[in-house]
Amino acid sequence: MKSLSEQDSQIFNLLDKERIRQNDNLELIASENFASRAVIEAMGSTLTNKYAEGLPGKRYYGGCEFVDEVEELARERAKKLFGADWVNVQPHAGAQANAAVYLAFMQPGETLLGLDLSHGGHLTHGSPVNFSGILYQSEFYGVDKETGRIDMNKVRDKAKKVKPKLISIGASAYPRDLDYEAFREIADEVGAYLWMDMAHTAGLIAADLLNDPLPYCDVVTTTTHKTLRGPRGGMILIGNDGENTLGVTARKSGRTKNWSEVLDSAVFPGSQGGPLMHVIAAKAVAFQEALQDDFKKYQQQIKDNAQTLAQKFLDMDYNLVSGGTDNHLILVDLRNKGLTGKKAEEALEGANITLNKNMVPFDDQSPFVTSGIRIGTPAMTTRGFGTDEFEYVAELIDKVLQNPNNENTRTEVKNGVKSLCDRFPLYDFVTA
Ligand SMILES: *Cc1c(COP(=O)(O)O)cnc(C)c1O
Repeated sequence: MKSLSEQDSQIFNLLDKERIRQNDNLELIASENFASRAVIEAMGSTLTNKYAEGLPGKRYYGGCEFVDEVEELARERAKKLFGADWVNVQPHAGAQANAAVYLAFMQPGETLLGLDLSHGGHLTHGSPVNFSGILYQSEFYGVDKETGRIDMNKVRDKAKKVKPKLISIGASAYPRDLDYEAFREIADEVGAYLWMDMAHTAGLIAADLLNDPLPYCDVVTTTTHKTLRGPRGGMILIGNDGENTLGVTARKSGRTKNWSEVLDSAVFPGSQGGPLMHVIAAKAVAFQEALQDDFKKYQQQIKDNAQTLAQKFLDMDYNLVSGGTDNHLILVDLRNKGLTGKKAEEALEGANITLNKNMVPFDDQSPFVTSGIRIGTPAMTTRGFGTDEFEYVAELIDKVLQNPNNENTRTEVKNGVKSLCDRFPLYDFVTA
């Protein structure tokens, strides 16, 4: 059989260009990371050929003896990593994990209460352009204008008013830790189910560097490719099927159900067909990596680097939403600098610095323009950046933002990026 380069030089050349782009740019998109060689090899395996609808030991197809073992390893490792009683590793991505949660816990038309998209929430938490906002009645809580943090009293007031069936927690652009215990109390007060979507923060949670949602939530979802550093994918978890989570909710609301079975069915046949077994193999590899001691050190470095970045930006007179960070990202409000997020993103891209424009709470610009930028540390920390490198990164960004239209500045910063990237090569094997 022909290799990719022999079979399809067009695609081969594009993949090669992308590999070089990843190597030569400062990757600061908070949701991105660089998977290991082992994870990428597992994803590129013959398991992509296999149909395995169903679960290990209960498949609708023959020939599943090896993929059964693969999925079993993925499940056991994930359970160990998060202290979970039950997991489903089949969701194709974060959005699919969330779709299964809705299918399991809600009837169309029932009420969901989630974090406002413009305050850091995610599309799948009730946005009118997403199935979650189309099929369910969505209501939102937000952050406090002064502190930039979620105000639990306001969450409680809103919950009492709208009586949600499900309360969602979790965000794509929220730099602070979350109070799951307080959310649980509110959910119990109004008889709602509680769901945490830890897509962004799963790696930090696995390393015990942020509060653990599993003991408090009826269900938890995540992606596997953000801080967790695995293949692109999703997962659903239940923390403790006994006393302190499901048991409590079930008793209080008089609803007793085996949620693990309901969620399994919501994934398949409820919302997906055959699972991506090559990706599940890569998830198993990533979970095994995450169970090693140096993963904890990696997550600590992500956090240290984000804190360094925050301090440096504050020192340079930038405003940060909530004034800092507890996790892997900062949200910079550019309004005092006379710049929009769009302008900043474009100027930085020209200097080989990749990040995204982002709404800030109470933004007066549209989502296409925005007043902020989101900056994350997971990807460059994977490449080996420490706090010294991130101080320099902040200086490079500031240089561009002070002079967004200046060609010479752009060239100068580009050279700085190049020398930094050269010191921390990305992949020492060829992916294309
Ligand atoms: C990234 C993200 C998702 C969606 O994940 P995909 O894999 O892109 O579908 C869902 N929820 C939150 C909070 C996220 O940050």
